[in-house]
Amino acid sequence: MLSTKPTVRQFEQLPTTMGQILVVEDEENIRETIATALQNQGYRVMTAADGQTALDVIQLFKSRCPKGGLSPSDSKQRPSHPTSSLDLIILDLMLPSINGIDLCRFIRREGSTVPVLMLSAKDTEADRVVGLEVGADDYLTKPFGMRELIARCRALLRRQLFNQETQHSTLLTCREICLHLEECRVTVRDQEVNLSPKEFRILELFMSYPRRVWPREQILEKIWGPDYIGDSKTVDVHIRWLREKIELDPSNPDYLVTIRGFGYRFG
Ligand code: CA
Repeated sequence: MLSTKPTVRQFEQLPTTMGQILVVEDEENIRETIATALQNQGYRVMTAADGQTALDVIQLFKSRCPKGGLSPSDSKQRPSHPTSSLDLIILDLMLPSINGIDLCRFIRREGSTVPVLMLSAKDTEADRVVGLEVGADDYLTKPFGMRELIARCRALLRRQLFNQETQHSTLLTCREICLHLEECRVTVRDQEVNLSPKEFRILELFMSYPRRVWPREQILEKIWGPDYIGDSKTVDVHIRWLREKIELDPSNPDYLVTIRGFGYRFG
């Protein structure tokens, strides 16, 4: 990827993208209502009534798109868009055969970054924590309005598009922080800061997924690799060092924010 000029696009400037959405929900009424509402908005929709069927669809996409993303088509119809990708999964928590938590955990372990909007009849903090810890991007409690569901879907798809765009960019920026990917250097408030390779990669991970909450275990797995033997305090130590280098007030951070009970979020 040769580029002389850094390419940066702001999240807010991106258009809403149409996409392909998998709706996993065992209650037929809800499933069909969601599917119809999304189709009316122009999205391509697939449905699955249980966890195993959803997993089969996800695997089908993966087998057609080996480079980490999720590609092709339909649980009902045979693949009609063999080159298209799976852009969003709406996932009910309580499902027959494989529940939403296990399914989400599996999808993330396979390395997919497809956005997941989790649905649940329960609204307890514990459920939300578990959902977000296994890698769901957002959480909606039943009963919900279709307008809210569609707004959340739009936001997730836009964020995903932003992430794809930034992956092809050579510069990641957030307010006063600029991360120059090709030159492996970082400036904060126009000053050059020296980061270790691990610190650089942690910052790159955070800046590639603005406002996403990262549990310590996921950071450990992404940066240190799945075979690393050590505990998540390693992450806390590196975050502390990073804060000392990029924050104006490291004890009251603006960028690397602790989300109690979840992990860390950037911005
Ligand atoms: Ca259910």
